[in-house]
Amino acid sequence: MRRKIVIIGIDGATWSLLMTWIKDGHLPALAAFTKNGIWGYLESTIPPTTIPAWNSLSSGMRPEDINIYAFMHRIRNFTFKPYFSSMRYKKVPYLWDILTEHNLKSIVLNVPVIHKPYRINGYMVAGFLYLDENNLTYPSELKRELDNVVGGYEVDIVAPYPLTKKEDLKRLKNITIKQINAFKYLLKRKEWDLAFIVITATDTIQHRYYDDKKALLDFYMTIDRHLVEIKDIVNMVTNGKYRLFIVSDHGFGPAYRVFYINTWLYSQGLLRLKKKPNKYIQCFNALASRSKNFLLPLIPLSLRKRIKSKIVKESSIEEIIDPESSVALGYGNMGLIYLNDTLSEREYRDKVNFIAEELKKLGMNILKKNEIYKRPEAIHDKRAPDIVITIDDNVSAINTSIGKCLFSKGKGGNHRLDGIFVIYPCMKREDNAKKLQIYDIAPSVLEELDIDVPKYIYGTSISEKFNIDL
Ligand SMILES: [Zn+2]
Repeated sequence: MRRKIVIIGIDGATWSLLMTWIKDGHLPALAAFTKNGIWGYLESTIPPTTIPAWNSLSSGMRPEDINIYAFMHRIRNFTFKPYFSSMRYKKVPYLWDILTEHNLKSIVLNVPVIHKPYRINGYMVAGFLYLDENNLTYPSELKRELDNVVGGYEVDIVAPYPLTKKEDLKRLKNITIKQINAFKYLLKRKEWDLAFIVITATDTIQHRYYDDKKALLDFYMTIDRHLVEIKDIVNMVTNGKYRLFIVSDHGFGPAYRVFYINTWLYSQGLLRLKKKPNKYIQCFNALASRSKNFLLPLIPLSLRKRIKSKIVKESSIEEIIDPESSVALGYGNMGLIYLNDTLSEREYRDKVNFIAEELKKLGMNILKKNEIYKRPEAIHDKRAPDIVITIDDNVSAINTSIGKCLFSKGKGGNHRLDGIFVIYPCMKREDNAKKLQIYDIAPSVLEELDIDVPKYIYGTSISEKFNIDL
């Protein structure tokens, strides 16, 4: 029997938070879904970041198959840019592309892989990495429809200027509710076979306020209330012939120990600078983060914007690195290390081994490029990271600025490898708490839609993996 499929992505959702709240009775919808469904851990990509994790979830393919490795990719030596033209890089179809080929209709809303909406059999709203505010939806008239329904649809998760915690949480909650309301409207008013929304604000909130469990719970309780309504709408419009997939792209944990990756590379003589790092900017950043809740409301918005752009420029590592004499650079906040792409093969191997061994001595879990990627093209692709430090409870955050200390106490949260999945409704089983890989969701969805899973898909459907019928 063909069912309609709803995928609800909750960016960064983790059982380590949700299970406690479910047991305490705070999340009745999730409690019911796990009780009458299959649930477990969903292992993410390496690195476990929003991009490429949602790309893998949406396609069933590995980052190396999709040709998108991280948020940013190296364009030459130590210069990076985001994968904003990802359609140019992407080599595989996403679920909604496959559905379009099979004449089935999709609703795709706020999925981070969509920078720019394009023609599909259905409806598409770009995610938080959108390129053009005036080109957010396919078909383009859909934007006005959603604006009317939710009172001005919003997609932007990055605030245009620094906000206090209270302002920030309020803003993210409002945006999320608008997105969920838009999704409910589409579920009710449009025809669809697959409907896919990603709630992205959870990732942002957990990064910033992981230590404030009350604030996080408040946000999840709001989501949970909307989950009940979504389920009721879906149940009604499909006459009960539906399956709900609740998934996250990676897990989360506290960011209590920060590793200063470039300070370490600098201390080893592997990273060299053109000029001394701007100490005042570091001091200003530290002061700003401590005092922002009472200081910020006093600063006019226009000035907040100017300060922000100045800080971003002055603290950029790309501004101060000497690319010729440097061997390696830590880039981004997830422990990615890139080696100088002019090294000879032998130098490259020696330096990779040296860095990996030394970091292991500091107790870190390290993956080298050839351990992450299996395709030879990926191992030789200079856009991909050369070393990835596993973010875990030992090194739970990465800072790329160069200063005096190698480690410091951190705050907030950071990604972990294991996200979540719940499939509802399903026959209840005692052997729950299975583990899936992020690649396994797309083939499972296709199977539920009676579409033959294409041979090239890397993941395995849940029914094949565990020899069960959902
Ligand atoms: Zn994410």
